[in-house]
Amino acid sequence: MPKKRRPRKPVPAPSGPPKAIKKFAQQYRCSHCRSSVDGIVKDPFGIWHVMIGHDDTCPVLRGTLTDVHDAVRAGGVMGVITGPFGEGAE
Ligand SMILES: [Zn+2]
Repeated sequence: MPKKRRPRKPVPAPSGPPKAIKKFAQQYRCSHCRSSVDGIVKDPFGIWHVMIGHDDTCPVLRGTLTDVHDAVRAGGVMGVITGPFGEGAE
């Protein structure tokens, strides 16, 4: 006699950010100011964003310097897209 299969319980969708995003937010430190994480939000496209609050005088906030090295140090995955794009691009 074949075994009866129990119906699978539905797995609830995760409600918060993935572990990697939370870990990134915990580990991020701006090397130019006393930054703080102001929140983690998900945009309408499903992309998570860690909102970093920099000091008013921080060169990263002003756009003078990049914080790529701080993001990489925090475990962020960076993607670099290079051009040229559009018609005629090879
Ligand atoms: Zn900063």
